[in-house]
Amino acid sequence: MRRLFALALALVFLAAGAAAEVKRGDRGEEVKTLQEKLIELGFLNDRADGIFGKKTEAAVKALQKYWGVKASGRLDDEELVRLDDLYFLATGVMAGDGLDEEELRELYPASCDWEDADAAGAVFCFRHQEEKWLEELISAPHAPVKLATLLTGRACELWEQAILAMYEEWESNASEADSDAILDQQILFEDALEKMQPGRDEYLWLLRQGIDLCFDLHGAEAQPLSDSEGGGGEQ
Ligand SMILES: [Zn+2]
Repeated sequence: MRRLFALALALVFLAAGAAAEVKRGDRGEEVKTLQEKLIELGFLNDRADGIFGKKTEAAVKALQKYWGVKASGRLDDEELVRLDDLYFLATGVMAGDGLDEEELRELYPASCDWEDADAAGAVFCFRHQEEKWLEELISAPHAPVKLATLLTGRACELWEQAILAMYEEWESNASEADSDAILDQQILFEDALEKMQPGRDEYLWLLRQGIDLCFDLHGAEAQPLSDSEGGGGEQ
């Protein structure tokens, strides 16, 4: 939770100056851990030897270019935290369980919605902000292929989980007759998903499904599937 919140802050306030730095000439465990992350995310093609040399510096610059910050080749404290966030989002170690719902509820709308025709114009609800952050990380220019692939895979997993959870929520709030129709729709979704090839197209498809479903379920104009009273409706 702390990490994701740090990420949210990092995305809003892009790094001010900080005290400690990791830079060329440094050696030790911290450098080795840094190198391992850079390798896994596709910025460094080398061995993690714990020595911050020319190649590590070039990898750090590539990372900074990806972030759109000054390519100094050295990482300060905030950038190290930001790298941790990126690493955890990309590898999935952290994703899916950490959001502080109360705080997010106040900051973001109740449902996802399209403002425009594509993902760039979509508004994400408090439930799906994690996916929104992933989307921003995926669509930033200069992402190494490896990183983009990891992030896209994670984003697909998260949307799949989110969509199935929304179907469950929808089914549990529906009348018996509606519930069957919703289940049918869910089965169609799962069948279509199974036929998708992993990658960008699958991601964009899931994104569309997720946003539409979230809007239908949580949007201000959300309507029950039929006119039958599902019990405790809002009208
Ligand atoms: Zn949503």
